[in-house]
Amino acid sequence: MSRYTGPVCRLCRRETASSKTGEKIKLFLKGDRCLSKKCAVERRGTAPGQKTAGKTRQKISEYGRQLREKQKMRRYYGVHETQFENYFREAARVPGQTGRTFLQLLERRLDNVIYRLNLATSRSQARQLVTHRHFRLNGKIVNVPSIIVKPGDVLTIGERSLKAPVFEANLEVARSRRPPDWLEWNDAENSAKVLQLPSREQIDTPVDEQLIVEFYSR
Ligand code: SF4
Repeated sequence: MSRYTGPVCRLCRRETASSKTGEKIKLFLKGDRCLSKKCAVERRGTAPGQKTAGKTRQKISEYGRQLREKQKMRRYYGVHETQFENYFREAARVPGQTGRTFLQLLERRLDNVIYRLNLATSRSQARQLVTHRHFRLNGKIVNVPSIIVKPGDVLTIGERSLKAPVFEANLEVARSRRPPDWLEWNDAENSAKVLQLPSREQIDTPVDEQLIVEFYSR
C-alpha cells in the first residue's frame, strides 16, 4: 500500500471538520509548526476543499463516527491500514479490554516512544531517525520503526549520532521535558528505559478506542 504524500495538514482539517463537538483536532504531524500560529487548524477549521467552507456541520451516522475515529487514530500514529488492522487483530486475541490493548500496542511502537521521549519533533521524524540507524535497542542497532518495546527495554542513541545537528536540538528538548511516567530518561547516558506498559491514563491520544472496536466488530 502506498504512503500518503499529500499535504498532511489537510488530514487534521478533515478530522476537525467532522468532530461532533467542533473541537480543534491536531494530529501533530508537522513538529514545531503544530504549536505555532501557522498551524492550519488554528487558521482554518474547515474541511479541505472550498465547497465545505462556511457551510454548517453535516450530520454524521454512527458508522461515520466509527470510521472517522479509526482514521484519526491511524493518522495520529502514521500507520498503514493493513498494519493498523493487524494490530487490532493482535489486540483482540489478548484477554482483557481490546481497545486498551490496541492503543497500548500503538503507543509501544518504537517511533512513538522516540516521539514521546521528545527525541523527535514528530512521529515521521522519529521513523526517519530509526531507519537511518541512529538508535540502539538493548545494545543492538535498530532500523525498524514498528518494533514494539516492552518493559525493561533500554534505548540509546549511537555515539556518532549524538553529534548530528538534529540530536543537538532534540536532546535539549528531551532534557527539559518530562516523558510520560511509563518511560524514564537518563540525562547522563542519553538513554531511556521502558519502565512498564502504558496505562490508559498515561496515553494522551485524543481518541475513543471503543468506537474503533465497534468499527472492526461490525
Ligand atoms: Fe495538524 Fe500540525 Fe498541520 Fe496543525 S501544523 S494542521 S497540528 S499537522
